[in-house]
Amino acid sequence: MTATVQGSATLAIAQHHFDTAARQLDLDPSLTAVLRHIKRELVVHFPVEMDDGSFHVYTGFRVQHNIARGPAKGGLRYHPAMTLADARALAMFMTWKAAVVGVPFGGAKGGVVVDPKLLGPTELERLTRRFTTEISLLIGPDRDIPAPDIGTGPQEMAWIMDTLSMHAGYSVPASVTGKPTVIGGSEGRHAATGRGIATVAVQALNDSGIDSAGATVAVQGFGQVGSNTAHLLAAAGLRVVAVSDSRGGVHSGAGLDIHALTALKEEGGALADYGGAETLTNDELLTLGVDLLVPCALEAQITGANAAGVRARVIAEGANAAVDPDGDAVLADRGVLIVPDILANAGGVVVSYFEWAQDLQTFFWAPGEVNARLREVMGRAYDAVRARSQSQNVSLREAAYHIAVANVAEATEVRGIYP
Ligand code: GLU
Repeated sequence: MTATVQGSATLAIAQHHFDTAARQLDLDPSLTAVLRHIKRELVVHFPVEMDDGSFHVYTGFRVQHNIARGPAKGGLRYHPAMTLADARALAMFMTWKAAVVGVPFGGAKGGVVVDPKLLGPTELERLTRRFTTEISLLIGPDRDIPAPDIGTGPQEMAWIMDTLSMHAGYSVPASVTGKPTVIGGSEGRHAATGRGIATVAVQALNDSGIDSAGATVAVQGFGQVGSNTAHLLAAAGLRVVAVSDSRGGVHSGAGLDIHALTALKEEGGALADYGGAETLTNDELLTLGVDLLVPCALEAQITGANAAGVRARVIAEGANAAVDPDGDAVLADRGVLIVPDILANAGGVVVSYFEWAQDLQTFFWAPGEVNARLREVMGRAYDAVRARSQSQNVSLREAAYHIAVANVAEATEVRGIYP
């Protein structure tokens, strides 16, 4: 990595997991160096006209970690704390994520240092279109395909698709995934990450000897990933007893009505306005005595400092790096099963792959077909990771990294180093 760029906690976590896998796989040192480095990165500073007529200069990034297995793929994050180091870490996670579920993409990530909640809709549109133009040096349907992430969604993807299409002179729907269905988005993309998490979480509960019917769940984060996960787990017969967002959450031993909570949020209310439940903080939610804990907020929520208080028996990491390596060690000692981020939250990129393939063929699938294929891919990936974890006596995270890193290493080796 370039010494002049400040690191980040998330980058340290990403490097820790890769280094562990490289060591455990006894990977050749030259190959290790290739896979550990970021292939390509672009930092842009660009002006946006604000609604009051002034200009503000924003900073954005697009980072491609590795493209040995296919075009780069990964989301765009709009967050005030976004850094280049975080984009590098998240791009690395994308490389391993695509490899562990077997979709033919490399890993990328990008974003803008901005709090999108502070911008009006026209400011957000101008920012997105200008940022798209700035990173159009790198992105395109056969090179690098962005998608939503924290702070972005279908509307931003529509603006990106339209901007790239305006420059091309014709519609290029495959240039971005997570679009509205009316312009080539895939059925099932919106809930895909949550559906993938729900699929592997239920398998992990069953493997731990916990009947998923009636199993208790706490979900941290009630954005697109957390709310869909909560809905799908409740629909699968689990009892969601606690949810939270950045402002705190609610807890009811009898179970929460997820539809009512979603409606409340859509009306602009707070989760705490939900009647018939106790309020709780995010820290309290993480230590509830539940069968399944699903952290879907931000990185490093469970660390060496608070992991001893976590009482869940299974954790499915909805957010990337929700558990840091110190947290992993504490939980492993206590026999808590962790379904790692690169497997648990890969449903988004799986359906992004389906969306990209549908756009390239201009042939669209019914929701049932998308969801069935997603469940099949996630179930197969989970089984492979679980089998490796048992045969090698390593954690699910280590097993997932073994499969992913070995796969990318093999692709790199067989292609050879040019020239
Ligand atoms: N941002 C999502 C992720 O981190 C989706 C990426 C994609 O679909 O390309 O997995």
